[in-house]
Amino acid sequence: MTARIRHQAAPNPDGCRWCGVDLYEHMQRWTPPTQDQIKTRMKARRNARKDTR
Ligand SMILES: [Zn+2]
Repeated sequence: MTARIRHQAAPNPDGCRWCGVDLYEHMQRWTPPTQDQIKTRMKARRNARKDTR
């Protein structure tokens, strides 16, 4: 499965647990991510930002 990248290199740390979409953009039931997921995503974001530079 390929994730579509729009403006962010990694999903929002606070995005949906399953698809990473923001609560505001989510069409149906939105599930909050676990603390672990938030941490992992924040790390991924940081790494992605490093790679882009
Ligand atoms: Zn979702």
